[in-house]
Amino acid sequence: MDMHIVLSVLAEMRRFRQRDHWTRQQLESYQADGLRSLRDYTYAHSPFYQQFHQGLTDAPLQELPVLTKATMMEHFDDLVTDRAIRLEEVKAHMRALTGDERFLGRYWVNATSGSSGHPGIFLFNRAEWITVLGSFARAREWGGVKLDLTHRVKTATVASTSAFHMSTRVNATAHSWWMPEIRLAASEPLESIIQQLNAWQPEVLIAYASMARILADEQLAGRLFNQYAATECGSLAAECEHHRGMHLMEDLMIFEVVDQDNRPVPPGVYGDKLLITVLGSRTQPLIRYELSDSVRLWPDPCPSGHSFRLVDDIQGRVEDVLSFPGVAGGVVNVHPLVFSRIMDTLPVSGWQVIQEADSLHVLLSGVHGEFGDEMLADSLQHALREQGAIVPRVEVQRVDSIPKTAAGKAPLIKSNLRQAGIQSSGTRDSRKV
Ligand SMILES: [Zn+2]
Repeated sequence: MDMHIVLSVLAEMRRFRQRDHWTRQQLESYQADGLRSLRDYTYAHSPFYQQFHQGLTDAPLQELPVLTKATMMEHFDDLVTDRAIRLEEVKAHMRALTGDERFLGRYWVNATSGSSGHPGIFLFNRAEWITVLGSFARAREWGGVKLDLTHRVKTATVASTSAFHMSTRVNATAHSWWMPEIRLAASEPLESIIQQLNAWQPEVLIAYASMARILADEQLAGRLFNQYAATECGSLAAECEHHRGMHLMEDLMIFEVVDQDNRPVPPGVYGDKLLITVLGSRTQPLIRYELSDSVRLWPDPCPSGHSFRLVDDIQGRVEDVLSFPGVAGGVVNVHPLVFSRIMDTLPVSGWQVIQEADSLHVLLSGVHGEFGDEMLADSLQHALREQGAIVPRVEVQRVDSIPKTAAGKAPLIKSNLRQAGIQSSGTRDSRKV
């Protein structure tokens, strides 16, 4: 553990704390200055944005085009502001990643889940990475967990264990006497996760939102508070002690809740997307970057007096937790990772797992390698058996393309059972802490 990083994160948190009590006016003036310097830097150093915002360099933020993950990845080498960064070399670095290594000795690399076939890749320089770490620490602090050099926080993380996922990367930097932690794979059987958590007795539990929901069902999560995080920028929002929703970290980002056509949606109404402008992003500037999360702004202020606006919990994420009857009775909730760790190894361009009343229906598109459908069905059944579920019939079907929903999404996992009591929630990089 690099002690300099710890001290820098603590210094960053002191800066954050000062802003926590800003008035709305102070906040907005800070955002305006931050946006101007982000745009000036970006236009000077990113060939992509010079084109993308051509003729709009002085236009209001709301008139700029929206940046999707696909566009960002397609123009990656021109979008970043350091001409030494090449996507192919970043990918090679990711394949070799085991711990806290940096690309070119100076960039921390994070990627979103590759299970959709198109991972987003994000680079952070030292200052940017300290802001990411600080944002997670701040989320914990808002939730009542004081983080400083005199208080060690015993943490447990239940998440993906891939080296380039943000939860792993944050941990690789932060792991120390300061945050003693165990890490458990969300794809492990629930029974074993619970045994290990009981033995460790963490003060803080970090998990995918869907996994946290499952654990809450198991009566383990009495002290959980909510945090909303994304690989693109770290923590975006977190609950304070009043639990009225999550406060957006508006000193770090400008948020726009919009509909399908990128028009603003008023407080009290769920948007289709959230656009974020990350004020501190310099290596890989994110201006009006699209997150497919549906959030709702809370119209009322929080009793805490924070001027950071509140959002509801996040809706409409892409993956479902499926519930199956358990061998030992009751219901077994199965995390999406149980499926994706099998499905992601297949030579296919798309897949979808659909739960029907008496079976599991698996769709595969763009198959470009040899494997047996029988063997796939066996692996899925084996994985479900390990979770303690009564194993359903599995039907594998090869299709031309995965059907999209009306909203244009192709969820990896969905349930056609909508009986009362079955909860679904997402795993997009949101988590409960
Ligand atoms: Zn509050």
